[in-house]
Amino acid sequence: MRVGIGHDTHRLESGRPLILGGVRIDHPRGLAGHSDADVVMHALTDALLGAAGLGDIGDAFPDTDPKYQDADSVIFLNAALKKLEIQAYKIQNVDVILFAQEPKLGPIKSKIRENLAKLLGLPLDAVNVKAKTGEKVGHIGRAEAIACQVAVLIE
Ligand code: MG
Repeated sequence: MRVGIGHDTHRLESGRPLILGGVRIDHPRGLAGHSDADVVMHALTDALLGAAGLGDIGDAFPDTDPKYQDADSVIFLNAALKKLEIQAYKIQNVDVILFAQEPKLGPIKSKIRENLAKLLGLPLDAVNVKAKTGEKVGHIGRAEAIACQVAVLIE
C-alpha cells in the first residue's frame, strides 16, 4: 500500500470557464492558468504521481509548453493513470477536498464525484468529494481562488 497527496490552487478570474473535476460549472468567473486550470484534476494527478514515487505534474507537463495552453486537464490525469498502470498499481480509493467560497459546491460535488469515479474506473464508494468554504477569510474566503487537496491509496 502506498499513499499520495496532492494540492493545487488557482486564481478566480472573469472571462474564464470554471471546470472542477472535469465538470463545467455555470459561474461568472473561472480559474486562471496555462491549461484549463482544473484544480481537482491537477491535485489528483499529483496525488497519483506522488503515491507511485513519480515526481509531480510540473515535471511531466511544464506550464511553459504551448502544447498545454488551455488544455483539458483530463489529459494529465490519463497520463498519470497510464504511468501507474505500467507499474501495475491499482487505486484503492480517492478522497478530495475542494476549498471554495463561491460557487456553492454542495449541489455540484456529487457530479464531480461521479465524473471522477468514471474517469478513474472506480466504484462510486471509492471516490469521495468534500467541499469547504474559506469562512470569508484568506484568499479562499475572499473568493480570489479555489484550492483542492487529494489523498489517494494505491497498491
Ligand atoms: Mg494547477
